[in-house]
Amino acid sequence: MNLENLSEVLSSEPKYRFQQVNKFVFQDFISSWQEASNLPKALREKLDFACPLDIDYELVKDQDRNSQKALIILGDNESVETVLIKQKAGKQAESEARYTACISTQVGCPLACTFCATGLAGFKRNLESFEIVNQLVFWGRHLKNHGKIDNVVFMGMGEPFLNYEEFIKAAKFINNPETLNIGARRLSVSTAGIIPGIKRLAGEKIQMNLAISLHAANDSKRRKLMPKASKYTISDLIKAVDNYINKTGRRVMFEYLMIKGVNDSEEDANELAALLHRPLYFVNLIPYNETGRYQASSPDTIKRFRGYLEDKGVPTTIRLSFGADINAACGQLHQKNR
Ligand code: SF4
Repeated sequence: MNLENLSEVLSSEPKYRFQQVNKFVFQDFISSWQEASNLPKALREKLDFACPLDIDYELVKDQDRNSQKALIILGDNESVETVLIKQKAGKQAESEARYTACISTQVGCPLACTFCATGLAGFKRNLESFEIVNQLVFWGRHLKNHGKIDNVVFMGMGEPFLNYEEFIKAAKFINNPETLNIGARRLSVSTAGIIPGIKRLAGEKIQMNLAISLHAANDSKRRKLMPKASKYTISDLIKAVDNYINKTGRRVMFEYLMIKGVNDSEEDANELAALLHRPLYFVNLIPYNETGRYQASSPDTIKRFRGYLEDKGVPTTIRLSFGADINAACGQLHQKNR
């Protein structure tokens, strides 16, 4: 899908056409201009030619059907992965299911975290904002008539704050009532701790959620897991997060992958609690989906670890890990490719 020529095509049209077109593409999720029935036929034909709506993709479903992964093929034949996660309690009707879309901001990732399939596959290029948004348009079309995207997480391939301009442009577009109209509080961005990005986000008007991928409670351990992101020390990171909280008054989530024998001991928990026992901080423990190099902590270890943190007053949740079957869970995107 490419709307680059839209302004030119609509330049001789009345102003309300923009609103009409935005509604067709980003709210009604048409996949052909022929579906835009109240546009004049000649305009539909022009749009067909100058602003193609097709999105090239491959879709994979996991076994329990709670998450689906799609590979979106870009104009230059590179590809990115995006995941749709369905949350529905046992007795809830299908129509009450809620959907979270996890979207990518880069093709690959330059940070090369040692536990992450995306990082290990290398970096190709930044996505443009429309390529980020198109991932949601894809899921919007996919869910059409039986559901809608409730939440968006910028947690797919890539580090959003290393592509800040395009990331924030996409976030504002997604939030715009005239386009995708998804509330800022339903948008979350996860960073490996890129401090300039945290500072910039604190100054944005958009009140979206911030998550920090921490994964270790001291610099030497973090350097082994996240060698490039560790260019920013943990103490500087904490200062940046404190400033962010002072400015925005919003809670910040610290993501912590549970890796067997690496960061899951009682000592690790105590060190983490000492670091994160601060106002508006909370921890999300993430069961690790093995990508070859490390092993996952057992469910009992994760529960015990949570207990240690909570005993020290740190609010802690355990993430339900969807999508392991299709390599769509955290740190697994790009494990298998086309
Ligand atoms: S964990 Fe995130 S920041 Fe690290 S390599 Fe993977 S995608 Fe990049």
